[in-house]
Amino acid sequence: MNKQVSERIHVLFFPFMAHGHMIPVLDMVKLFSSRGAKSTILTTPSNSKILEKSIEAFKNQNTDLEIGIKIFDFPCVDLGLPEGCDNVDFISSYKKPGAGDLLLKLFMSTKYMKQQLESFIETTKPSCLVADMFFPWSTESAEKFGVPRLVFHGTSFFSLCCFYNMSTHKPHTQVATSSTPFVIPGLPGDIVMTAEQANVADDETPMGKIMKEIRESESTSFGVLVNSFYELESAYADFYSTNVAKRAWHIGPVSLCNREFAEKAGRGQKESIHEQECLKWLESKTPGSVIYVSFGSGNNFTNEQMFEIAAGLESSEQSFVWVVGKKNENQGEKEEWLPEGYEERMKGKGLIIRGWAPQVLILDHRAVGGFVTHCGWNSAIEGIAAGLPMVTWPKGAEQFYNEKLLTEVLGIGVNVGATELVKKGRLISREEVDKAVREVMSGEEAEERRIRAKKLGEMARVAVGDGGSSYSDLNRLVEELNSRK
Ligand code: UDP
Repeated sequence: MNKQVSERIHVLFFPFMAHGHMIPVLDMVKLFSSRGAKSTILTTPSNSKILEKSIEAFKNQNTDLEIGIKIFDFPCVDLGLPEGCDNVDFISSYKKPGAGDLLLKLFMSTKYMKQQLESFIETTKPSCLVADMFFPWSTESAEKFGVPRLVFHGTSFFSLCCFYNMSTHKPHTQVATSSTPFVIPGLPGDIVMTAEQANVADDETPMGKIMKEIRESESTSFGVLVNSFYELESAYADFYSTNVAKRAWHIGPVSLCNREFAEKAGRGQKESIHEQECLKWLESKTPGSVIYVSFGSGNNFTNEQMFEIAAGLESSEQSFVWVVGKKNENQGEKEEWLPEGYEERMKGKGLIIRGWAPQVLILDHRAVGGFVTHCGWNSAIEGIAAGLPMVTWPKGAEQFYNEKLLTEVLGIGVNVGATELVKKGRLISREEVDKAVREVMSGEEAEERRIRAKKLGEMARVAVGDGGSSYSDLNRLVEELNSRK
């Protein structure tokens, strides 16, 4: 570990309360710690429990680290949220009336923590605040005390540039229907989208207002931290730094800071399949023969869709590891989608993981040769870091942009055929699943795709290694924060 770069600067990390936002922040804490920084993660009581285990494990391996958690009060019920609704996971599995508005309500309720944040900044006088995009109000809080605020969006430069150009030029307002294709103006490359996929909230809607605040804070903050590496999307990294944010530092793929088996296995810390069981299964397979199928930290496919995925994987004749999530039996959900006798038939051919998978461990295993992903950025960049070609199946958020990066810009992805947000979209048939999986796993084009993906994986490791682009960018940032003290 390189500790010379810094005297102990103190960095506050304030992730949004969702697994996809907290996991990369934990990796960033490790990265900053490796440069000698002291870190404090700011969060709510129930989320602190998720973070504590990972931090303890990390501190046990590196006893001289100073990593703390500051817990902010977040009274869900007083804020008009159901009890326990301080994590997006809760919302994904909430089936009662009003569930549709909960995410928006949660976004709006986070401002409740502003006062607590300011008191903490005032007493601790940190070197900087790395706060999630969903806390745009925190820029002002940090500035009040002369503390630089860095934004963390958790997505690619490419998506950030797309969003910027979409909101600047509004091409989606000039097309006939939500499924009419258009080129996003102002971007390097001809990126074709539809309004449906671009998923831009109207400025006048409550969500649109939040997005507007986020855009403003992006350009008024000290800068932006991006979980990517320069060589992956250099045209977009340059465009972003020149046109959008004041400054941007690329420090990824952050998941690559997890080098040891236990670190990779414990990442995310949800109830999990035993990693040894998973590894034993993978060990029995030939290199590159298994496709890993996972749709992120929450799974909202209908039973009907799950059935088609099951059938498509079976007919593709590929070995697979499929993370299906866990049904919430307390809320009366049942696992009714598996075809009759499926697991028995697939024994040895397919491993179904109910709950949480050690994703990075699986992706890095030599038996794995492809990844079916929803294109959440963490998964996408983890797939890139593992050097894998992907079947892309975006469902919402900014995932359709990430898909374009994987399929059209990088040439390492094959679209399963999802063209609309999952909540409105049509059923993807078993034939489509079968076709995309085969296309990624075998044939001449698959080989070329695999070679490109492998090369990107190697480039990712170079970027985070000694003297690499991400390694050096992080050092530059830490040095700068250090010199401001
Ligand atoms: N993840 C995991 N095990 C699982 C499902 C997800 O470790 O069973 C991790 C995955 O490695 C990634 C994160 O959870 O780091 C999901 O983030 P992503 O941006 O891909 O998707 P989101 O869940 O935010 O939609």
